[in-house]
Parts: sequence; C-alpha cells; structure tokens
Amino acid sequence: MSAMSTVTPPPARRTFLSARGLTKVHRTRQRDVLALRGIDLDLFRGELIVLVGPPGSGKSTLLDLLGGLDTPTDGEIQIHESDDGAAAQRRYHRQHVGFVFQSSELVPSQTARENVANVAADAHRPLQTDLALELVGLDERADSLPETLSPHERQRVAIARALVKRPELLLCDEPTGSLAEATRRGVLEVLGRAQRVLGTTTLIATRDERVGAVADRVIRLDGGCLRPLHRAAVPPVPPVPSWDGKRA
Ligand code: ADP
Ligand code: MG
Repeated sequence: MSAMSTVTPPPARRTFLSARGLTKVHRTRQRDVLALRGIDLDLFRGELIVLVGPPGSGKSTLLDLLGGLDTPTDGEIQIHESDDGAAAQRRYHRQHVGFVFQSSELVPSQTARENVANVAADAHRPLQTDLALELVGLDERADSLPETLSPHERQRVAIARALVKRPELLLCDEPTGSLAEATRRGVLEVLGRAQRVLGTTTLIATRDERVGAVADRVIRLDGGCLRPLHRAAVPPVPPVPSWDGKRA
C-alpha cells in the first residue's frame, strides 16, 4: 500500500452562508452610492476569513449585510441549516451573529465582567461570562472599569462580549484599526484562538494587508467587487542552495 493511500482526506467544507448577487446602493439626499456591485460569496463553517480592501471599498457595507444590520438593495443571503422563513433568519441574526467594531463601545459605568454578563443575560445559549473573559486573556482584569483598561484590553472585552453569545458567525470590522502594532497581534491571536476553540466562522474586515497572515482564506474587495480568491499564508519559497552549498 502506498503512503498516499493512508492519508485521510480533509473533511468536506460545509457551507455556512451563501450570498448571491449582493448589491447595495446607499441613498442619500445628495446622491446614490453604489457600495456593492453583485457580490457572490460562500462562508464555510469554522473558517477564519480576512476581507482586505482600501477605505471605501465596501467592507463595512458587506459586513452589515452579512450580519443582518442592513438589507441588500438586490441579491440574497442564505444561512444554511436554519429555517427558511424570513422571521427565522432575522432571529438567527439576532441570536447567532456577533460583531466587533473598531472602537469597543463598552458601557463606561460597568466593569469588564458586567459588560460581558449583560450580553450573556440576553443570549440564547451563552458561554459562561468568566470563560469568555478567559478566552480573551482578561480574566484577571474582570473587575476593572473600562477607563482603567488600555485600548487593546477594552477591545478584548468587546471581543468577549461578542463571543459570550457563542455566535456561529463573528464579524469584525477593522478590529485592530485603532491599535498599536504591539497590541494588534494580541487581538488577532485572541480572534484566532476563539475561532479554534469555539469553531466560530469568523470574518475580519481590514485595510491592513498584514492581517491576512492569520487567515485560512483572504478575500479582496475593491470598488464594491470581490477580486478572485486567494489562499492565505502561502509560505515564501525558500532560497535554493547553489551547487557548492552556498545560498544562491
Ligand atoms: P469601507 O468599510 O471599505 O471603508 P464602506 O462600506 O463604509 O467601505 O463604504 C462603501 C461606499 O459606500 C463608500 O463610498 C461610502 O462613502 C459609501 N457609504 C457607506 N455607508 C454609507 C451611507 N450610510 N450613506 C451613504 N454612503 C455610504
Ligand atoms: Mg469600514
């Protein structure tokens, strides 16, 4: 038997969400803005996707549509394995989608634990509050008020608050956009850990190409259109040693 035949094939990817022909026109008094121009996108269960695009390319608009905060002008979004009815889909969005934004928007008068616990209280099947805080590495600061936390600690609380709902889909809009380099990585690590531990389908929108390093898949948005798909994290080709053993 060859070695190849003993290798187990990877499990088939299960589609979690399909978007077809998503178009969005933002109508304002002055003008109409065509923000998305017919997006076709499948999200697979449990994957970590990074959506890269320059400012104004339509990232936030797309996340808002995927998360049910806004409705498309045309096209449709189907969540697989949930009921087909529109009411069920709306309920789905409320109960099973978590959002993380660029600024953490915590309740200033509440401790980190209280901020998370209040979301848990309304959730359909919450994680334990302390477990969510532990997942983001903030268990020791749980009794701190937001003003005593650093910006990246506050962002971790915001992530815990999204995770405590045990969302099936976590949508992060520029989650590291206001953080310094040293703390940016920590926040991305937390998002990666949450995705591995909870199996949450996670989509991170960013203008920062470097964020793509943590992704299973990178997708690119430009002028409201998705560019062809790429696999992320392809290691650079190592230099080939020359015949005398020196690096070419
Ligand atoms: P990104 O998140 O990539 O910066 P956005 O989705 O915020 O992109 O914006 C895409 C385009 O839609 C931009 O031209 C922006 O000015 C416009 N836009 C976004 N939201 C609105 C809105 N509420 N009203 C009018 N135009 C909007
Ligand atoms: Mg945006």
